[in-house]
Order: sequence, then structure tokens, then C-alpha cells
Amino acid sequence: MQSADDLMARNAALELKLAALTEEAANNEKKLRRSLQRELRLLKAEDLPTLIREMTDGLRTSYNLPYVSVVLSDPDHDIRHLLLAAGTPAEEFQYLVMAGSLAGIAPQYVALRKPWLGAYAACDHQLLFPAAKGLASIAIIPLTHRQQLIGSINLGSQDASRFTDRHAADFLAHLGVIASFCVENALNRARLLRSGFTDALTGWNNRRYLQVRMNEELARAQRDNSRLVCLMLDVDRFKRVNDTWGHATGDAVLREVASRIESQVRGSDVAARYGGEEFVVLLPNTDDIAGEKLAERIRSTIAAAPIDLPNGERITITVSIGIAGVIPDAGTGDLKTLGESLIARADVALYRAKSAGRDRVQVAADEP
Ligand code: GH3
Ligand code: MG
Ligand code: MG
Repeated sequence: MQSADDLMARNAALELKLAALTEEAANNEKKLRRSLQRELRLLKAEDLPTLIREMTDGLRTSYNLPYVSVVLSDPDHDIRHLLLAAGTPAEEFQYLVMAGSLAGIAPQYVALRKPWLGAYAACDHQLLFPAAKGLASIAIIPLTHRQQLIGSINLGSQDASRFTDRHAADFLAHLGVIASFCVENALNRARLLRSGFTDALTGWNNRRYLQVRMNEELARAQRDNSRLVCLMLDVDRFKRVNDTWGHATGDAVLREVASRIESQVRGSDVAARYGGEEFVVLLPNTDDIAGEKLAERIRSTIAAAPIDLPNGERITITVSIGIAGVIPDAGTGDLKTLGESLIARADVALYRAKSAGRDRVQVAADEP
């Protein structure tokens, strides 16, 4: 027979245990909820720059850590270019490390299948945490694509007991899987968006791309106090080509015109198909005289030699070109409107070239 005292003691022990388990379950539930919230924020990131901010600044705030960084392998500068096209150069992310190769970043990378938790060692980990001070323990969470390591999320703490190999890392592993998926998804979306900047007929940049670049070039011209010149080209009497030989021949002519324009512009110029048979070339850091010379070269290159049609005939095609230039005032905030007015002025000059008989170049006067 057990004494009443025994029973009471055992009951008290059980109650303690139950309280501890209840607390653990509550803690786990809280942890799970926080963890789900973090993953949800990554999943909701609309674009690559937002995702990178969520993975660095977002996780740092949410884990209440002094340092969170992301390493991404980018051997072909693909991600770099996508970030640039999305409007935020990689250099602007303080906690993003772009690696040409993952070899030598950290010894743990050699066999990183699941999160690695342990002590921070400057000699091994400083490439994961550039310019970090006072870190004591870290977690390296692998990011993968088709079973291949493509980088990591790196959590850094000043508390040596925050990340140790005795900690369960299930939550971190799950975060890594979700984050890997989000990175792949955001990269794909950014690639799709960029393909939306290309004209299918000529392979040239399209009007959307021009709008983005126009803003960038105006901002640069404003910074450098330099002149940006815009050429607007329109094929003369193009409707006749379509009407006489059909649209397929018209398309071939447009491709040839694009390639002749391209043969005359520099790599630093921005050329785009603006609409049907209209093309725009932006010339950074150029004055009107140089712009006019280039326009004249383009005009004569197109008019000089007839174009071979698919049916064997040859026709001479001409273009009219309008030119406008601008040095953006230091105080101008609205570059979008400034870009639109630059295009509109080039268009007015183009119209003058058409009225004056086509196959010629006209320069717009500067705005008063
Ligand atoms: P103008 O000298 O005044 O410019 O005469 P135009 O005939 O070139 O003038 P307009 O702008 O009226 O005609 C442009 C034509 O270009 C009309 C349109 O059907 C044709 N076009 C636009 N995009 C394409 C295209 O992608 N392929 C072909 N084949 N034709 C196109
Ligand atoms: Mg036209
Ligand atoms: Mg035309």
C-alpha cells in the first residue's frame, strides 16, 4: 500500500511535469506561429528586391538578432542584372553577399544539407557576415535549387548559447526550404518581367524598356549636368510596303531597318522599337550637333542601299528623324514628365521632317 504522502508527492511531481509540458507546448505553438508568420512574409514578397529585404532586414527584426545576411551564388551576373532591371542594384543591399563562386565562402558549405548551428569563428565565417562585430554563435541555413547549394541565410547572435549544435533546427530547416522556393520564384518572375522588355519582331528593347531607361538616363544627365539627346525615327510611307508586298515583307523590312540603325549606334546608346515603324535612340552625354551627325549617318545608311525583299525584289526605304535634347535642371523632380516632353519634342521635329518632304533630319529648338 502506498501512503497518502507518497501519492501526494507523486501527484505533485506529475503536476509539475504537466505544467512544464503545457508550457513547452505553448512555447512551441508560439514558435510555430512566429515561424509561419516569417515564412508567410517571404511568400508574400512581390519581387526580388522585396524578398531580399525580407530575408535580411525582415528576419533580423523578427528574430531580434544583430546580424542577418544572405549569400547568393551568381556566377553569370544574372541576379545582379535582374536586380538592376528591378530598380535596385545589388550594392544597395548591405546584407546581401553576391558570390561569383561558393567555394571558399565558409568551410560548412562543403556539406551543407541542413542548417549548421555553432560558434562564430572570424577566420571561417567573416565572408558570411561582412563587417560584423561581436558575434558569438551563428546559424547557416542552406538555400538550394534542384538539390544544389545556391547560397545561405546567415543568422548571427552575440549570445554564445543562441545557436548551438544541441538545438533542434527543424524550424530553421523549414524556413530554408520556403526561402529557397521564394528565391527561385522571384528570380523566375524577374526574368519574365525582363523578357517583357524585349520586342518579339526585332529582338530590340521595346517601349517599356525605353521608359525605364529614359528615367535612368535623365537621372544620370541631371547628376552629371550633361545633355541627353533623343532621336525619333519613323519609316517613310511604310503603309505602301505593307499594301504592296504584304505584312510579312513589311516585317522583314522593319528588321532590316532596325539592324541598320543598330550598326550606327554606340554600346552606351539606348535603342528601342517605340511602336509599329517608329524607333527611338537615346544618346547620353551628347550635344545636338553630334546627335544630328549620327542621325544623318543612320538616315543615309538606310537610304543608301536598297533592301532585299524575301521575294527577290529590292526596294529603297527611307526614314525621317526628329531630334530633341535636354540638360535636366538640378531641381527637376519629375523625370517621368521630362522624359515624355523630350519624346514629344522629338516627335514634333519628326513631323516637321515629314512635312518638309521625308528622308531628312530635323532638330527641335530647346524649350524656352
Ligand atoms: P509616313 O511617311 O507619314 O510615316 O507614312 P506611313 O505610311 O509610314 O505612316 P503610318 O504611320 O500611317 O503607317 C505606319 C504603318 O506601319 C501602319 C501599320 O499597319 C504598319 N505597321 C505597324 N507595325 C507593323 C509591324 O509590326 N509590321 C508590319 N508589317 N507593319 C506594321
Ligand atoms: Mg508612324
Ligand atoms: Mg511611317
